[in-house]
This record gives sequence, structure tokens and C-alpha cells, in this order.
Amino acid sequence: MHIEVKNLNKEFGSFHAVQDVSFEIEKGKLIGFLGPSGGGKTSILRMLAGLETPTSGDIFFHGKRVNDLPPQERGIGFVFQNYALFKHMTVFDNIAFGLKVKKQNKAAIKERVQYLVELTGLKGFEHRYPHQLSGGQRQRVAFARALAPEPQLLLLDEPFAAIDAKIRTELRTWLKDMISELGITSIFVTHDQEEAIEVADEIMIISKGKLEQKGTPWDIYKNPQTPFVASFIGESSLIDNIQCFKGYEDVPTNEGIKALIRPEYIEVGKSGEIVLASATMDASVKHLHFRGSEWMVELEIEGQKLITYRSLEKDVLHPGEQVKVLIHRAYLFNEEKSWIMENP
Ligand code: ATP
Repeated sequence: MHIEVKNLNKEFGSFHAVQDVSFEIEKGKLIGFLGPSGGGKTSILRMLAGLETPTSGDIFFHGKRVNDLPPQERGIGFVFQNYALFKHMTVFDNIAFGLKVKKQNKAAIKERVQYLVELTGLKGFEHRYPHQLSGGQRQRVAFARALAPEPQLLLLDEPFAAIDAKIRTELRTWLKDMISELGITSIFVTHDQEEAIEVADEIMIISKGKLEQKGTPWDIYKNPQTPFVASFIGESSLIDNIQCFKGYEDVPTNEGIKALIRPEYIEVGKSGEIVLASATMDASVKHLHFRGSEWMVELEIEGQKLITYRSLEKDVLHPGEQVKVLIHRAYLFNEEKSWIMENP
């Protein structure tokens, strides 16, 4: 289903929860709404579902305005984080629920449920009750139930939040594959950036009621358009006095310009070794944190600011050691504008 949202607003009393949000979603895309808690993600999802009325703005499905259409007529499937399964019904009956409401005949219901049970890997569990299932299995029942009436849009509100970390990773991959196989337009809400980056075709960053940026995960990571997005996605160190960039082309070292630097765009060489080009900074190694597969190295540049560098090797750098640092890429911004500094 193609979706278009124009100038959507939601006010709760005097609180402006969603502020003039506009976007389009192409048919078949899997979209992640990502942002901090309270930013308005769920409110937008609920307005798409028809569970909440916009204060102003329009929602179009396939070019048709749906603002006044009740939820059950919007062709939507909904999955919540807490499963919301019917406890007194078996897996079969949970999945069949929406079809029974639609008064489909028994044979058609059975066929559809069997198809979904296979699709969601629940074969053999049809006669179990929700309390006899694991968290991951329960959430799959919730997906199957939402998919049963063949919705054209699937809305998932923090669908993995209540699931163990390991199963969550498996379930994410499974969901992504399943949705791309079915070709059904889907939106999921999350505040977990790793989840959004791994699962979504496109991410919408939503914060304080506003849509900050929309794009593919890679595009958002590589080319953030606001300081908020740059700091929210991926790891970065903030330098708020960029005097240390002297020698870098295209970097005015004015007061008020700040820089966000990702660990992978920092090159480090030992002092004394002529490994780096002209625009290097002097730094000293402060701390090393072991992360399992890598070391996070905190460097103090020119005696003032800390930046983080990632190293796969052990015993290369030591606390107190003097090094040279070259920054290949940084996101720079001030009150008025932002730009990317590249130093190949
Ligand atoms: P989370 O990740 O915590 O679910 P969210 O980004 O989904 O957050 P929303 O649930 O959309 O955010 O809430 C946005 C803001 O609107 C919050 O500050 C919330 O307190 C407020 N809000 C949501 N629903 C209501 C309501 N029915 N009445 C008053 N305020 C509300």
C-alpha cells in the first residue's frame, strides 16, 4: 500500500506531540520509526491505524484520504510489543480470530491458518495455549494473527521489545525475510538504532514530535542532516572547540563550530613514525576499554578533548602514550548550518 502523510499534527491538550509531519512510503517497503522515548512514534502509528484522530493533517492510502475511515476498514494488521494474544484461545483460534470476525467459511479459515502456521514456523503448535509457548513463539502467533486477514499495511509497535536478546536477533531476520517475501508495506516502531539499521529498508528519525530525517540506514549513517541525527545514530565523539582542526582544508576554525567524529574515521599513528600526512593532531592515549571483539581507545586531542578510536588489535596502544591522529571525516555544525568535512 502506498502511504502519504501531509502536515500531520497531534495535540494532547496543550502538548504538541506530533508537529507538522509529512512523508511518503512506497508500496512494499519496510520502514523503521526510530527515536527517543516520547518522541511521537507511537502517536503517528496510531493515527495511521485510525486509533487516534489527527488534530490536523491528512493521511492517504493509495491516494485516498482515510482520515475518517474507522480502523477495521483501513486494511491494517497491528502487532504490539506485549503480544496481546487471547489467553483462553489456542494458537489456531488466535490466528483465525480476524477471519471469523469477517465471517469467512470454515474451510477457507482452516486453509489460511495452516498457511500462516507454516509461514511463521508454528506447525505442531496449533493446539497450544499462549502460556505454553516461548516469548518468541507468542510473538510469531501475533504476527500470524495480524497477517491472517491479508492486510495491506502492517504496523508493529516495538514488536521485539519483550523478547530475549538472542531470540530477538533471530526474530528480526525472520521478520525482515517474511515481510520482503510477502511484499507487504510495514512500519515498525523502535528506539533501538541497531534494530532499525538491521531491519528497515528506510528509517525515519522522529524526535520531539518532528521528523528529523528519512532515508536508508546507510544514507542516514553516512549523511546525517541534523546534529541530533548525527549524534543519535552510530557512535561518535563531540568536539565543541574545533581549533584543533587547523591545517584541515575547508574547516573554518570559528568559535561556535562543533564536530561529531565517528571512531572509524580516525587514523592513529605512533609519534616518531612518519605514517600520517600533514593535518595531524597530537594526542595522548587515556583509556582502553575491552569490548569483546575490539578495544575502544579514548584519546585526548591537544590536551583538551576526548575522542574514541576503535582498535581490533591488543597491545598496540598504551595509556599515556603520545600519538598522532588524522581525522578523515567529521560532521561539523553550528547554529545555522551543518556540513561534512572530508579529508581523504
Ligand atoms: P515511546 O518510544 O516511549 O513509545 P513514542 O515516540 O512512541 O515513545 P508517543 O507514545 O507517541 O511517543 O508519545 C509522544 C508524547 O505524547 C509523549 O510525551 C506522551 O506522553 C504524549 N502522549 C501520548 N499519548 C497521550 C495521551 N493520550 N494523552 C496525553 N499525552 C499523550
